[in-house]
Amino acid sequence: MTDRVLLVTDPGTDPHYAAGHVERPERREAAAAGVRDAAGGRLLERGAAPADHRLLSGVHDAGYLAALEEIERGGGGWLDSDTYLVEGSSEAARLAAGATVEAARAAVEGVAAVAFAVARPPGHHAAAARGSGFCLLNNVAIAVAALRGAGLARRIAIVDWDVHHGDGTQAIFDADPEVWYGSTHQQPLYPGTGARSESGSGAAAGTKQNRLLAPGSGDGEFTAAWRDDLMPALEAFAPQAILVSAGYDAHRDDPLASLLVTEAGYAAVAREVGRASARMGLGGVALTLEGGYDLDALRASAAVTVRGLIAGRAEPVPE
Ligand SMILES: [Zn+2]
Repeated sequence: MTDRVLLVTDPGTDPHYAAGHVERPERREAAAAGVRDAAGGRLLERGAAPADHRLLSGVHDAGYLAALEEIERGGGGWLDSDTYLVEGSSEAARLAAGATVEAARAAVEGVAAVAFAVARPPGHHAAAARGSGFCLLNNVAIAVAALRGAGLARRIAIVDWDVHHGDGTQAIFDADPEVWYGSTHQQPLYPGTGARSESGSGAAAGTKQNRLLAPGSGDGEFTAAWRDDLMPALEAFAPQAILVSAGYDAHRDDPLASLLVTEAGYAAVAREVGRASARMGLGGVALTLEGGYDLDALRASAAVTVRGLIAGRAEPVPE
C-alpha cells in the first residue's frame, strides 16, 4: 500500500481575488505549505488541468454556467454579498474543480494514499444553478461526476468537516442514494441549513447526515461526532471512494466562526477517516480545500490532516 501524498495546486487560481476579501490567494500557499510540511519525501506535486465543460454540465445547469461567463465578460461582479467574479475567476473555478477531479482519481486508483487538491475558490456552497458563500462551482460534486463517468466509483462518501454546512453539496445529491454526505457544522451560522432532519429524500433517505455543533464545542464534541457517530455510518454505507470537503474554519483562530477546534481535533478526525479507508480497502483518501481563513491555522491544520490520514491508514486492520 502506497504512502505517497499527492498535492494538486495551481497558481492559475490566484487571479481570483477581490481586494480585502477573506477568501484570498494566500490561503492556497498556506494550505499547500502544510501539505508539503507533512509529506516530506513522500510528496508528489502537480498543477491542475481545468475541468472540461462536459464535466461541469454534469453537475451545473447550462444557464448558470453561461451566466458566470457573461458576468466575467462584462468585467466581473457579485453573485451575492460574499461571492464575486473577476477576470480569471471562471478559469480559477475550472482549475479548482479539475484539481479535485485529479485528486479523486489518484486516491481511487491508489496512486496516492492522500491526494489533496489545494485550490480555490471553494465549492460546497455552490448548488446546481446558484453560486454563493464564496463558491462558484461545486468541486467535490464535479469529482463525483468524474469518478462515475470514468467508471472508477459509483458509491461515494463525502466527509464535510468545514464549519459551515455544505448546502450546495447536499442539495445536489439530496435524492441520490449512492452518495453519502456527512457534515459537522456550527449552528447558528451561515448558511443556516443542515438540520439533523435533512437526511436525504426518497430512496436516498438516511444517506445525508447532519450534526450540529454549538459555538465553543471544541475538539471533544467535534471528534466524538465523527468517531462515534458519522464514521460508523459512513462505513456501514460501504463507499468505493471517500472525498473530504476539508475546510479549516472550525479552527479556534478562524475569524468567521467560533467552534474552537484545534490541530488535535483535525488530526484525530483525519486518523479516523484514514483508518476507515484502510479497513474498507480503499486506495486512498481525496481532499479538496473548502474554508479556513487564518493562514497559520490553515497551514498547521492541513499538515496534521495529512499526518493523521497516513497514521490511520498504517494501523493494523483487524480481521
Ligand atoms: Zn466554511
